[in-house]
Amino acid sequence: MRTVTDQYLQINTINKAEGLECDLLAKCEFFNAAGSVKDRIAKRMFDEAEKSGKIKPGDTIIEPTSGNTGLGLALCAAVKGYRCIICLPEKMSNEKVDTLRALGAEIVRTPNDASFDSPESHIGVSMRLNREIPNSHILNQYDNEYNPLAHYDTTAEEILEACGGKVDMLVAGAGTGGTITGIARRLKEVCPDVIIVGVDPVGSILAQPASLNVDGPMYQVEGIGYDFIPNSLDRSLVDKWYKCTDKPSLIMARRMIKEEGLLCGGSSGAAMACAIEAAKELKAGQKCVVMLPDGLRNYMSKFLNDEWMYENGIMERAAKESEVDRFN
Ligand code: PMP
Repeated sequence: MRTVTDQYLQINTINKAEGLECDLLAKCEFFNAAGSVKDRIAKRMFDEAEKSGKIKPGDTIIEPTSGNTGLGLALCAAVKGYRCIICLPEKMSNEKVDTLRALGAEIVRTPNDASFDSPESHIGVSMRLNREIPNSHILNQYDNEYNPLAHYDTTAEEILEACGGKVDMLVAGAGTGGTITGIARRLKEVCPDVIIVGVDPVGSILAQPASLNVDGPMYQVEGIGYDFIPNSLDRSLVDKWYKCTDKPSLIMARRMIKEEGLLCGGSSGAAMACAIEAAKELKAGQKCVVMLPDGLRNYMSKFLNDEWMYENGIMERAAKESEVDRFN
């Protein structure tokens, strides 16, 4: 029986249904305090900035984010006594915004189509607020050494410990790239043959070779993909990139909930859908670890909601309602 403290779980059903020979393992990050893998970097960046004297209680923390780093920083700010302003694109879920507000953060929504270097983007607005607000600071997850380092020091070590020091493949989505960079750097020191697989949405430009990065419509999966290469992403550590799209990613996230009991978010589905393809080259006894960055709380009104899935063309409405639905 799984317990809520398990951060690392064997997938039992989907791997068999998809014909995989290797062991497929999920690194669950939705048990963290604010609900995602990004709590690790939020706390680390906050603690290091305090230690170095760069920030002090009463100051203002501003961060451009797709939401999860914001949630981690807002939690730190709430308990440590800072003002917190989070700038995030419109497409990010209202569930993230409500949780951020409950933690006392102030929110600025920015247009989805603003390019990273425009003054209207979540990055541009953060920079302007930083100039305007005295004693304000951007910890800047896109260019902060403690982002990948948090994963090198903690996430990777937890994976190694749980796998008895031997990992054959790691699959992770990339946003800032801190997660995949920090974990890959450490795993490659211990398991030089490990294959690192990056997952990047169609419409983003993080994947290599560049010919993979064709244009696409705005994607709904949150937290992965960018229109610039963040300094926190070291692409030389990634052996192979897979491009993902919304439909297979969100269908897989729903399967993971229903078939594995893993209450994960959309980017977890993207990583798992690509892992199913990538891990076909592994043999029995080998281990593929898949990162599940956040949980379903962030997406209750989005991919958790059947109507939303129909409206966005991800699921088809059942032709006939079931007996049970009719009596509810
Ligand atoms: N999935 C989700 C849901 C996220 O919020 C993030 C962070 N943007 C990622 C994946 C990617 O993590 P990283 O920024 O470390 O690449």
